Order: sequence, then structure tokens, then C-alpha cells
Amino acid sequence: MNPEKLQTPFYRVKEKDLLYDINLLKEALTKNWGNYIMGYSVKTNSLPWLLVYLKEQGFYAEVVSEMEYDIAKRMGYSDDRIVYNSPIKDRNVWEQVLLGGGYVNLDSSYELLWMEEICEMYPDKVFKVGLRVNCDIGALCPEEQLVEEEGGRFGYCYENGKLKEAIDHIEKLSNAKVAGLHLHSSTQSRTVKVYGALAKMAVNIAREYALDLEFVDMGGGYFGGRDDKPNYLNYFEEIGKELRAYFDPKKTKIIAEPGVSLISRAMSFETTVLDIKDIRNRKFIVTDGSRVNLNPLVTRHVYPHHMVYGSDPTERVIEKNQWVCGSTCMEYDRLFEIVDDVALMPGDRIVYDTAGGYTMCLTPLFIHYFPAIWIEKIDGSLYQAREPWTNEEYMQKYHWEL
Ligand SMILES: *Cc1c(COP(=O)(O)O)cnc(C)c1O
Repeated sequence: MNPEKLQTPFYRVKEKDLLYDINLLKEALTKNWGNYIMGYSVKTNSLPWLLVYLKEQGFYAEVVSEMEYDIAKRMGYSDDRIVYNSPIKDRNVWEQVLLGGGYVNLDSSYELLWMEEICEMYPDKVFKVGLRVNCDIGALCPEEQLVEEEGGRFGYCYENGKLKEAIDHIEKLSNAKVAGLHLHSSTQSRTVKVYGALAKMAVNIAREYALDLEFVDMGGGYFGGRDDKPNYLNYFEEIGKELRAYFDPKKTKIIAEPGVSLISRAMSFETTVLDIKDIRNRKFIVTDGSRVNLNPLVTRHVYPHHMVYGSDPTERVIEKNQWVCGSTCMEYDRLFEIVDDVALMPGDRIVYDTAGGYTMCLTPLFIHYFPAIWIEKIDGSLYQAREPWTNEEYMQKYHWEL
């Protein structure tokens, strides 16, 4: 089928672009370290097709909830291919992953108590866990733009001694061991430098507390899919260089847990112009996709896109201004303004590039339900990975007897 004929709105995932970034990650990790695990952050986009695809590519599932763990299991990930993070953990999942040989990065006070319990329950087993590190990135990299000015809220704080307390707590147990450090921290500016600083932090902590680590988990938060920004090769060159100061690739693995950097190049959101409305001195372009499909948190003002005109644009008039609007009947559902450019017409397509990474899963069920998802395979064929939701799906689990 011709993708130009598909009913809009829909998300498209291009396998070719997805493979490009997967291979870039593999190359970066192979070249710069050699001994590694690739995790995929399920929260970023839990599309079942994608989870199966990445599993076949050798990825582990990095999960942060019971639901994510469950879907990863359903998509065929075994417990030893799970990385379990987050400060809100489910006790049963936590035990299953630990007993099944997966990776667990502790992040909370209650998990230290759970460690005492599990060690007592299984005295013949040795439980190896990672600890999520909270360190002052603002102090390490003053020019870095942080996501939150007050600093991160995850992990055990290095500076005030909480991390050391957690390490001591684990090491006191006869059948538990601190086997890894987890350094995921997302910054706004995602510079290579900040990953270098985080790797150096892992080195300093391991050295200071004499840790013998099986893994250093560098987390996610990288740029990806943008040629004007650093890529995996740049990040892991820096990380490898810093880690080598203390760690040996033969003994210590790097875990990477990318999310959006792995998939954003491959994803687009495709919409159609339905109507042109002349309101006083403005032209409003009504489309069948919405800001909620692209930016439900309504924080963005830039939407990279390209047009697929339904007829020759060189034969059209130039409009002074056109406001492209979404489909939700909310005034704020306006996407971008086109200034001094070709007049849009009903039937034209507006394709939002690098769109849908996080938002496929962040999209609310507001006025319209979840749009279709199509996979464009390497050979150009199309595969429907999600049918659009209807009331059949929406009305599940509701009750309306009076
Ligand atoms: C969200 C998250 C990731 C992935 O982040 P991206 O910015 O999508 O790469 C990786 N690890 C953890 C612990 C996360 O919370």
C-alpha cells in the first residue's frame, strides 16, 4: 500500500532509520568498551511491536513499573533480560527480577530493608544489586542546563553520605553485594561533557569506597536522530575514556539505557489539512492531528515538519500568515504559524518529523482516541502495529448501570 493513501492521523515508524540508530549504538559500545548491555527504556515508548523488535536486536528491557515489567515479559523478555529501576518498585517484580538473574538498581530506603528480607529468605543465594547515584551535576558541570534547577531527586545522594550508608547497608549482609552503580540523569543540554563527568563520578565512587563492580549503568538521556547534535559515538568515546581510569572492560560492563535517542529519528506523525478558515485577517488551517499527539504537556513551540502538497505548490498563491491548528476544539491546540509561504489546501499533508518517541504513550484519550501506528519495513511494505482506538477499546472496564 502507498503510505500517502493511509487514513490520517497516524504515526509512522521507519525500520530503516530505527536500524540506523540501533547499529550506531552497537558500534559506539563495541568500539569504546566492548563489554556491554543495551537496555531500552520501556517508558519512552512501550509499543509492543517495538519491544519485540528491540528484543530481537539484543536489547534488555529497562522497566520502571509493574506494568512495564508485565508487558516486557509478555513480549518475551526473560527475567535475566530485565533492568529494573525507579524509586517506586513493586515487591513481587523486584523479587522475580533478582531471583531470575536480572539487574536491579536500588533507589529507595525501603529497598534496603527488602534486601535484608530477601537475603534472609534465600541464605544460599548471593544478591548482586546496583545503586542509583545522585550527585550534584550542577556543581560538576556548571554550564549544563538541568531539567530541574533544584537538581535531581532520584538515587542516593553522594554528597551527604546517603550513598555510602546504602553501600554499607548492603555490604553488611553476608549474601549481598553492590555490583553496580547507576548514573542515569537527564539534563536539558545532554552534552558529551556531562556523561564524561558522570563516568568520572563512577570512577571516584568506586575508588573511594573500594567497590568491585560488574557494571556501570550510564542510563539514557542522550541526543539521537539529530545531525546537529552529538551522537552515541561521541558519548561513549568520552564515557569509555573516563571509565578506563579505574575499570577494566574485561571485568566491568557498561549498561546503556537509551529511550528517545534510539527511536526519534524513525518516527513521524502524519496529518491532513481538512479546512481553511478565514477569520478576520487570519487564516486558520484545520488539521486532523493535534498538539496532544505531539506535545501533550504543551511545553513546545517548535514542531519540525515537512509538507506533502496535494497539488503543485508553485502554482499557488503565497499567504502572509497561516496558523496550523489541531483537532481538539481547544483554543490552545495551535501548532505553528507559517509566514509568507505557499497557501495550504485541504488534502495537503503535514508530516511532523522525529515525533512520537515519548508522545505515542503520553497521548491522552481526549476527544479523539489513540491514532493508528504503521511500520514502514525495510522493503517499503507497511505493517499496522496498532489499529486506531474506537469506543470498543475505550469502553472496556467501564460500567453504566443506573
Ligand atoms: C527515562 C529513562 C531512560 C531513558 O531516557 P531517554 O531520555 O528517553 O533516553 C533511561 N533510564 C532511566 C532510569 C530513565 O528513567
